[in-house]
Amino acid sequence: MTGKISFAEQVNLNFDKAVRFTDHDPRLLDQIRVCNFVCRFAFPVQKDDGSIEVVEAWRAEHSNHKLPTKGGIRFALDVNEDEVVALASLMSYKCAVVNVPFGGAKGGVRIDRRQYSKRELERITRRFTYELSRKNFIGPGIDVPAPDFGTGMKEMSWMADTYQSLHNNDLNALAAVTGKPVELGGIRGRDEATGLGVFYGVREACNNAEDMKPLGLDTGIEGKTVVVQGFGNVGFHAARFFSEAGAKVIAIAEYDGAITNPQGLDIAEVDEHRKQTKSIVDAPDSKNLPSKEAAIEMDCDILVPAALENVITDDNVDRIKARIVAEAANGPITASANQHLFDRSVLVIPDVYLNAGGVTVSYFEWLKDLSHVRFGRLEKRFEEFAYRRLLKGVENVTERRFSEDMLRVLSEGAEERDLVRSGLDETMATAYQEIRNKKCQIGGKADLRTACFIVAIDKIVLCYGDMGIFP
Ligand code: GLU
Repeated sequence: MTGKISFAEQVNLNFDKAVRFTDHDPRLLDQIRVCNFVCRFAFPVQKDDGSIEVVEAWRAEHSNHKLPTKGGIRFALDVNEDEVVALASLMSYKCAVVNVPFGGAKGGVRIDRRQYSKRELERITRRFTYELSRKNFIGPGIDVPAPDFGTGMKEMSWMADTYQSLHNNDLNALAAVTGKPVELGGIRGRDEATGLGVFYGVREACNNAEDMKPLGLDTGIEGKTVVVQGFGNVGFHAARFFSEAGAKVIAIAEYDGAITNPQGLDIAEVDEHRKQTKSIVDAPDSKNLPSKEAAIEMDCDILVPAALENVITDDNVDRIKARIVAEAANGPITASANQHLFDRSVLVIPDVYLNAGGVTVSYFEWLKDLSHVRFGRLEKRFEEFAYRRLLKGVENVTERRFSEDMLRVLSEGAEERDLVRSGLDETMATAYQEIRNKKCQIGGKADLRTACFIVAIDKIVLCYGDMGIFP
């Protein structure tokens, strides 16, 4: 809970704001808004010292208008039912915005992962998967977990392995979990996907001269100043892609401190320092800031909150100086702080679109697992031969010769990672145009978040219509 209204209520406020711009049947809207299923789990876990601890966990399936439902599993101390429900509903709208054919779900285990050994985390993850399976809350066509805050490939490999051992006659068992290591049916590019999606989404916005003008900004990413809050999987990759595209990441904030360099931080160096010391503080070529708030409140072009919800609230919104706030995390701006930013004409690129890169590439991974073939395996060589024939044709017409090196570079067929990146780029670019068009169609009263919710609701309504319910 935050302030007076809970996270789930905040999501529903955004939903209710959007439905005012639609004329859908209110009974159907009630069905879309409500969370269909929530399961609370409590199970014992044996610690390394032999003691037993009771762990609490949740899985919420918000909407089954498409199956499977999909969403991450987070490990954090403040996980609670309201949060899981809110995040599951965001997943439903997120999937609809980027045309990923899943319903929304989310799970959480209430633990501080730093307090557990690797073996203990494995026992917790495997036991949770077992409980999910017992309650039919996991399966390639039912509900497919993925990484989220506090979880990653390791946890997903334990989940997939546990599910597979419980369902060893299911040929598609590996499709029950995404975000797995490549050796276990994962896909190249999933790890970086959310951060890369954030980059693609912001790049789309920044390429639009009409949208940049009122912010007093030029088009393009190059030269823009960026502050990233949260240097986990999402924040790190987003920072890396911004920096590679020529933006200056002038500050990074983490839970234990913040660093700055007005000329732009070296992201690889900060990451290396963090790997060695477990903290970004004192990273080379940087100055420590007095607090993480000092980073968030810095004057910059793009602020990227990339950790947890409720980072920009009524308490600090007046001190936010960024021209663009790019919601890489889920729910980092409270509903009322969002209104303040809107009134001040700050461009907020909302979570429900911007961090959909993770679930988009999860969708590609799920497809790969169901088809049992790596993307690019069938066509890579064919493409290379076709490009070579074309280049030979150019040589014949121009009577000039390409060097063997040039031929190799120009005729290279796509690897799995290239295809994943291009599919993600296409998804983020197309969805941005769709939500921007909706926003323009509505005019001054709507921001991009409201446009996202309208686009999502329209698509889910259509889906219920196709099922013959509320025709
Ligand atoms: N946890 C990520 C999210 O919130 C990814 C979900 C998924 O891949 O299913 O979008």
